[in-house]
Amino acid sequence: MIIVLKPNVDQAAIDQVTLHVAELGYAPRVIQGVERTIVAAVGDELSNRSLETLQGLEPVATVIPIQKRYKVASRECRPEDSRVMIGHYPLGAGAFQVISGPCAIESRKQFMTAVQHLTACGVRIIRGGAYKPRTSPYDFQGLAEEGLELLAEAKAKFGVSVVTEVVGVTHVEKVAAVADMLQIGARNCQNYHLLECVASAGRPVLLKRGMATTIEEWISAGEYLLVNGCPDVVLCERGIRTFETATRGTLDVGAIAVAKQETHLPIVVDPSHAAGRRALVLPMALAGIAAGADGIIVEAHPDPVNALSDAAQQWPSDQFASFMEAVRPLVALMGKKLG
Ligand code: PEP
Ligand code: MN
Repeated sequence: MIIVLKPNVDQAAIDQVTLHVAELGYAPRVIQGVERTIVAAVGDELSNRSLETLQGLEPVATVIPIQKRYKVASRECRPEDSRVMIGHYPLGAGAFQVISGPCAIESRKQFMTAVQHLTACGVRIIRGGAYKPRTSPYDFQGLAEEGLELLAEAKAKFGVSVVTEVVGVTHVEKVAAVADMLQIGARNCQNYHLLECVASAGRPVLLKRGMATTIEEWISAGEYLLVNGCPDVVLCERGIRTFETATRGTLDVGAIAVAKQETHLPIVVDPSHAAGRRALVLPMALAGIAAGADGIIVEAHPDPVNALSDAAQQWPSDQFASFMEAVRPLVALMGKKLG
C-alpha cells in the first residue's frame, strides 16, 4: 500500500501516519519528495488489516493498494486452467459447454418441451429458474419447489445436468439437493452471507458478475467462494450497467479477457441478459467465445413471445440448432471441444 500525504505536511503529521501504519501491522518507509511525502507500507495486504482507514487521517491525500484482493483465484496461485465438473459434464481447460434453457420454469409442458428441443441439438446442461429475482417485485417470481421437482424430472428423463439460481440462504439445501451447479445471480454477487452458504453446499457455483461490480470485486467474490470451501467456481460475465440504452446491459468482453488472464477459473458468457434482444444474442455469444469464454449460458424458450420473464431475449428452443451451428466453428477455432 502506498500512502500519499498532502503537500507540505510537517514532521508531526508524518509521524502520525507512520504510527498508524505500524499499529496496523505494516512496516512504514518514508519517502520524502520536494513537495510530497509518500509512506510505503510494507506487509501482506491480504493478511493484515486494510490500510484504507488511513484515508480518514488529516495529512493523508490518497491511499493506493498494490496487492490484488484475491490470491487463491489467481493464476499466480495456479497457472493452469481449472476444470469444473457439472454433474458428468466438464467445463473449462479446453472443454466448452453450451448451457441453455428458459429464463424461468413456468410449467411442466413449457420446461420439458424446451429440454427436449435443446437436448436434440446436443445441449447437455440445462438452465431454468425455479426462484427468480426480478427487477420489479410484482413480476413472476418462479414456481419455487414445483420448479425444483421439474428440474429433477428433467434430469431423470433426459440425463442432463441442471443449473438453477439460489436467491436466499433458506433455499440453499433444497436447491443443492437437485442442482448440479448453483447459480448466484447478478443481484447477489457480493451477498457474502449467501456466498458462504452456497460455498459449503457441495456443488459447483456459477457466479454472475454484478451489474456494478468491478472485475476485481467479481473475482474477489469468486475468491470468497473458494476460501469458504467451494473448489469449483465458474465466473459469468452477463453485462454491466452503463450509460448505454441500446442494449439491456453492456457485455464487457474485456472483462472475459482480463479474467482469463488473471484467474484460472472457467469463464462463461451470458449473452442473453447482456443483449436483452434476441437479434443481438448470437453476435454477443460469438464475441464472448472469441474473448476466451469456456462456455455460454443462453436462454431458450419454446414460445418466447409468451414467456413470463425475459421474453424479448429468449431464443426459440425449436430453432436452437441454428445457434449451435453458428457457435461450433468458433469454439473449434479457439481450440476447445464442444460438449
Ligand atoms: C437469469 O439468469 O435469469 C438472471 C436473473 O440473471 P442475472 O442474475 O444475470 O440477471
Ligand atoms: Mn433471465
